[in-house]
Amino acid sequence: MKTRIETLKQAILTAAQEAARKEEDILVLAVSKGKSIDQIKQAYALGFRDFAESYLQEAEKKIKAVQDLNLCWHFIGPIQSNKTKKIAEHFDWVHSIGRKKIFELLAYHRAPARPPLNVCIEVNLDNEPQKEGFSPEEVLSLAPYFASTAQINWRGLMAIPAPKESEDKQYQSFLRLEQLLTKLNEEKGLHLDTLSMGMSRDFRAAIRAGSTILRLGQAIFS
Ligand SMILES: *Cc1c(COP(=O)(O)O)cnc(C)c1O
Repeated sequence: MKTRIETLKQAILTAAQEAARKEEDILVLAVSKGKSIDQIKQAYALGFRDFAESYLQEAEKKIKAVQDLNLCWHFIGPIQSNKTKKIAEHFDWVHSIGRKKIFELLAYHRAPARPPLNVCIEVNLDNEPQKEGFSPEEVLSLAPYFASTAQINWRGLMAIPAPKESEDKQYQSFLRLEQLLTKLNEEKGLHLDTLSMGMSRDFRAAIRAGSTILRLGQAIFS
């Protein structure tokens, strides 16, 4: 794992430099779904503090097992209504909010005594019918609501674009998410600071387009 992570860090640094960006403005999440508690501890020993999971049941066990490490946990999987209570309880961030109902329920279930839940709104960039997520138009019209809901700290946007055949096509998709974030900030007077975009297959293009959070599984754990 160590060599792979050194190679990865170098690749991130190079992509950041090519985009005239600072490496420290890009947070890397270790996507640990399907990985063991030992693998999480190894990644921790190599410097990772932010971990992401996609399935609640699997995540609950792991979060409990390593609670002494004080990790920051991010939920990135599909969300059903009946899981929102526990997700709001166990996670610091939720990236995969693709329906208004889910946003409402997460806000409702986040305990008032806790800090607000950090969230990203998922955008269905390529209008794929099988995929969750808001259209850019929906995000613009719901923006005042997202920004003013108690117990929610709306940080930005997330997307999982359809696979593309070239890095340039990947970049074009990510750029549309970046432009939407800029538009929200300018037209709605917001201060969104997060673009959760880029996985192992396309993180270079995502960095070029302004990603602030990469979600990496394979590239870290293989
Ligand atoms: C699994 C997953 C990732 C990580 O994908 P890799 O290809 O392993 O880097 C990122 N984002 C989401 C939403 C995922 O489900």
